[in-house]
Amino acid sequence: MPEKVCIITGGTRGIGFATVQAFLKEGYKVVLYGSRKETVDKALEQLDHNPNVFGRYTSLIDEEAILRDFNEIKDELGSIDVLINNAGISESTPFPDYTVEKFEKVMNLNIIGPYVCSHAAALIMKEQGHGVILNTSSMVSKYGQPSGVAYPTSKFAINGMTISLARELGKYGIRVNAVAPGITMTDMVRALPEQVINPMIQNIPLRRIGESEDIASAFVFLASDAASYITGAILPVDGAMIS
Ligand code: NAD
Repeated sequence: MPEKVCIITGGTRGIGFATVQAFLKEGYKVVLYGSRKETVDKALEQLDHNPNVFGRYTSLIDEEAILRDFNEIKDELGSIDVLINNAGISESTPFPDYTVEKFEKVMNLNIIGPYVCSHAAALIMKEQGHGVILNTSSMVSKYGQPSGVAYPTSKFAINGMTISLARELGKYGIRVNAVAPGITMTDMVRALPEQVINPMIQNIPLRRIGESEDIASAFVFLASDAASYITGAILPVDGAMIS
């Protein structure tokens, strides 16, 4: 059976990096995207320059460049079986200090990026007659967030994009789902002091903060044939935390 190909945006660290590792373990060829050459090179180095992983740092909101990239990937590696729109930024500016520029910055990466990448991938997947698009949502897409309004807005929007594209692309053999992580132990959370982390843990029924690998496993499941009748789902991976 030919090797499958998975593209993962924001694959240089955190949830994305764990997802790159998980898909490599599943035997996929993986193309990871990062924002800069330096961070992409560092990630490839951390993966011991595994010959099944390739790095790119094209802007995720440059429609023409992404279309060109994805066509090159298909020509070089044979197919695009899975796209994981994972790159995202969060911030927590209070609303009185909010600006259109701040709003646009978050929406560009968290929504325009997934739109551009999904569009380019869907053109290829439609030709192939199969494909899986997975998005990284968040538990804030259920509860909102009391500051940094663009971030929860973008995560509500990614759920909308997921369900709508699932309905539109199903007829082409393309499934579209999202994983909605709760608080996940990435560098940013790891840097928080115990006084901040401990009360958070008390708020989580499973009494631990999620690991990046928990989210990666959910992506692996949703990409697999075991999930072949699942589309338009937003899968919470949050230990049942209510923020
Ligand atoms: P992270 O900051 O550790 O990693 C973010 C990734 O996005 C990096 O690989 C980075 O290269 C990439 N990125 C950042 N800015 C970019 C840009 N302008 N262009 C291209 N790529 C860029 O983040 P993380 O915590 O691993 O988050 C990954 C996803 O998970 C995000 O969509 C985030 O919203 C979501 N999420 C995270 C948590 C959490 O607690 N960590 C919870 C819910 C949802």
